Amino acid sequence: MALRTIREYGDDVLEKKCKTVKEITPRIKELVQDMLETMYNANGVGLAAPQVGILKRIVVIDVSPEADQPLVMINPEILETDGEQTGYEGCLSLPGKSGVVTRPNYVKAKATDLDGTEYIIEGEELLARAICHELDHLDGHMYVEKVEGELVNNEDLVEDSEEE
Ligand code: ZN
Repeated sequence: MALRTIREYGDDVLEKKCKTVKEITPRIKELVQDMLETMYNANGVGLAAPQVGILKRIVVIDVSPEADQPLVMINPEILETDGEQTGYEGCLSLPGKSGVVTRPNYVKAKATDLDGTEYIIEGEELLARAICHELDHLDGHMYVEKVEGELVNNEDLVEDSEEE
C-alpha cells in the first residue's frame, strides 16, 4: 500500500468524466487500498479515484466515528434520493475550506465491491451527503459548483460554532 498524491482544485483531472471499471484486476485492488490509506491519512470521509489522478469510476467512503467501516463503491449509481439536508461540506481536494451545500437526506445507490459483487446501499445524512459528493467527482464536478454563498476557511467555521 502507498499514499497517493491528492490532486487539488484547479487540476484538470478533477474536471473529467471517469470511465467504467470493466474488470477488478489486482491493479484496481491496489488502487482501492491506496485510496483508503490516502483518505484515512488525510482524515477524510470520502475519496474518489480522480482525486488521486485516476479517471475510473471508483470511490471509497467511511463516515463511521472510528473510521473502521470502509465502503468501496466501484461503478456506483444513485437509484433513488429523498428529502433534503443543508450543511457545510468540504473536500480533500480543497483543503481548509468549507461551503454550504444542499443535498438529498436519503440516497439509495448500487455499486460493485472488490469481489465483483453488486450490492445496494441506503444512506442518510452524512453518508447520503458523502455518496452524492463522491459520485459528483466521477463526472468531473466539485461541490464548489453547488455552494450557497461563500466558501469559508475551516478556522472561521470553528470560531462561528463556538459563538453559537
Ligand atoms: Zn471531494
